[in-house]
Amino acid sequence: MVSDNHDTRLFIGIVGGGIGGVALAVALSRAPGLEVRLFEAAEQFSEIGAGVSFGPNAVRAITLLGLEASYRRIADASPAPFEDVWFEWRRWHDDAYLTATLAPGCGQSSVHRADFLEAIVENLPEGIARFGKRCVAVEQDGEGATAHFADGSTFTGDILIGFDGIKSAVRDHVLPPEQHEGLGPFWSGTYAYRGMIPTAQLEAAMEARGADTHLARVPQMYLGPDRHLLTFPVKQSELVNVVAFFTDRSTPAPRLPEGEAWVNAVTQEEMQGVFDGWGAATQAILACIPEPTRWVLHELPELPRYRRGRVLVVGDAAHAMVPHQGAGAGQALEDAYVLAGLLSDAACDRHSAEQALAAFEAVRHTRTCKVQRTSHEAGEVYEFAGVGIGADETRLIENLETRYDWLWHHHPQDDVAEARRRLGWEEHAGSRVPEARRA
Ligand SMILES: Cc1cc2nc3c(=O)[nH]c(=O)nc-3n(C[C@H](O)[C@H](O)[C@H](O)COP(=O)(O)OP(=O)(O)OC[C@H]3O[C@@H](n4cnc5c(N)ncnc54)[C@H](O)[C@@H]3O)c2cc1C
Repeated sequence: MVSDNHDTRLFIGIVGGGIGGVALAVALSRAPGLEVRLFEAAEQFSEIGAGVSFGPNAVRAITLLGLEASYRRIADASPAPFEDVWFEWRRWHDDAYLTATLAPGCGQSSVHRADFLEAIVENLPEGIARFGKRCVAVEQDGEGATAHFADGSTFTGDILIGFDGIKSAVRDHVLPPEQHEGLGPFWSGTYAYRGMIPTAQLEAAMEARGADTHLARVPQMYLGPDRHLLTFPVKQSELVNVVAFFTDRSTPAPRLPEGEAWVNAVTQEEMQGVFDGWGAATQAILACIPEPTRWVLHELPELPRYRRGRVLVVGDAAHAMVPHQGAGAGQALEDAYVLAGLLSDAACDRHSAEQALAAFEAVRHTRTCKVQRTSHEAGEVYEFAGVGIGADETRLIENLETRYDWLWHHHPQDDVAEARRRLGWEEHAGSRVPEARRA
């Protein structure tokens, strides 16, 4: 497939229709002069039935992408007076309150993943998405970049964006494994049990075990040695999303048993055994999840680069991380906004697009690597393995109250402005992405 529209300033292919790829496609579809195609491996857009929480920076990116109305329609908030609570933090064996991390004006701001993807897909014009298109190889020359799909078809555009997740095929072109050993996904050492519980059922279970029912409605993190467990509401507080983590710290680089799948259905007894000795709230929560799944949490090392010529990887394809700061999807959304800001610029055409991708990489690389690194550290802090913190509650509380400041206070408009400055694009009218107020 090649563009035959002569008014097109830039023909863009996006591989991967997850949260990031769809958000980018929507933003680009609104800009004049751009032609966009989105290629998704699955037969339809799909997300798992779990929750995802957004920090204030992610909500800012959603707003700037013009997706705020879709998001607000389905977003959850904690009941008054806990609207600003991102998480309350508690001790593992007695549920004692340690502190709360506040995100003023934002709070926990969680959504059901499938609902969120569906809500943003509604903004995507007809004719952009192609399904059943699993990218298997990428090549490029001086004229364009070509994606090859498993069904034998191809797409050639001026540039190609890999938003195809942690197992990215596009990344293998940007950083060929035969030249770059050890840059693929690796096991973080952590497993995560996941489940969803009707809120009323969890409240009753909490009450029956003598735990405070407030714990069912307000986002909680229970912290203990080598384990932690989180809960937050989704679906207008009808459901509570649960993720229970445990980490193997017996060796510095734990290896996954040969052939172990990334996601497995496991028994409730196995999960309860891992949290043996934990407090009443944890026991109430786990008793309400009869059929948990166990996820092997992988992450990527910090990659030396995200771009090769006309091909760029973004989102989890570039910087997949462990979910301990609830930040991966937020980084994918920031990437989508910054990239859309540059590609929508009137100065960006098939001749300057490569430089725009280089400028994107230059302004995003340091931040996304730091989010990866601090996400891994966060897991250590929560599980009493933080360097200089351990199980010292005073130090733990201080860390929890401040560790998100730099992450949340970022304004991705500044990334666009910095990239435009590097490109020498300050002088003209600039970006046509619906440039929203400073969110
Ligand atoms: C347990 C857990 C909890 C999490 N919680 C949070 C949270 O609370 N907050 C947060 O911000 N983040 C969270 N994350 C991280 C978040 O899920 C990811 O960072 C986010 O989904 C990345 O979006 P993406 O669009 O880059 O990639 P993905 O969501 O992985 O989407 C990739 C898309 O590409 C498609 N695809 C893959 N390969 C190909 C191919 N070869 N060709 C074509 N299409 C392809 C896939 O089908 C998929 O649709 C969590 C992750 C985990 C594992």
